[in-house]
Amino acid sequence: MTLEHRRAIFLQEIGVGAVWVRRDTAHSDQTADIDRVTDTINAASYATQSQTVTLGAVNPSATLPASTGASPASTDAAWDESPLATDPATLPSTAEIALMDWPQLQAAVSACRGCDLCQKRSQTVFGSGDRQAKWLFVGEGPGRTEDQQGAPFVGTAGKLLDAMLSALNLQRDANVYLSNVVKCRSTDAHGADHAPSPQQIALCKPYLERQIALLQPTVIVALGKTAAQALLGCDPGTSLSSLRGQLHRAHQCPTVVTYHPAYLLRKPIAKREAWDDLCLALRTYADQTANPSAE
Ligand code: SF4
Repeated sequence: MTLEHRRAIFLQEIGVGAVWVRRDTAHSDQTADIDRVTDTINAASYATQSQTVTLGAVNPSATLPASTGASPASTDAAWDESPLATDPATLPSTAEIALMDWPQLQAAVSACRGCDLCQKRSQTVFGSGDRQAKWLFVGEGPGRTEDQQGAPFVGTAGKLLDAMLSALNLQRDANVYLSNVVKCRSTDAHGADHAPSPQQIALCKPYLERQIALLQPTVIVALGKTAAQALLGCDPGTSLSSLRGQLHRAHQCPTVVTYHPAYLLRKPIAKREAWDDLCLALRTYADQTANPSAE
């Protein structure tokens, strides 16, 4: 199967398949190819023996605007001001967080008022999914819909992420865990979704680090620049394009960087590059499963 076919299958999953379908490819052939690539991805994802999975080359040439955003730009009305203030005492120490189990960690996040993001949240968004999962996807932070529903990656960006997961033969709540760098929604002065500050990320990061330690994923996929910078400890000026297309390690775990689905909704042309990134993640998973000590 050619790279072009695999891209077509992925892009069909995310709704722009026609862009990549070869003019000489019959529809019935595409359908058969979908079955074959699904089998291939499935085998690669759950292989216990070494096997070769030939996947697409990575194109690191893309650039990203200054902020990926947690979700598509919101035009919602301004939030009501909350009379509640921050309370650093509700933020456990890093050492205390490092000893927490899943229920303790979730309770600590729910009670946390350790940074100013608590003031306008509807609720915290802890993360969701299979706590035995080998795949961890990390985004920037909850957007408006996530804040309302208390779950990560819902709404239109969440649907696109589900399609990306499906292309990897993964499924939300089945074999993947979803989380964010910060657990409370960040907004600008007009109430629109906004990237959290480095200070807010630093305060909230021990919660994510404990999630990673409890999960011990085989592969982490960082969705967007903010998540990548936070996971990899990069300078805030580091571009997403400089991080894509190569394998990193975050908290001893192989980590791949790609676009946030909210960005892909705004820039559908970048989906083809996202597919390259997912191929790298899938190849990394297969390599790690076959040889867990491999760098
Ligand atoms: S963003 Fe994190 S540190 Fe800030 S209040 Fe929410 S849970 Fe606490």
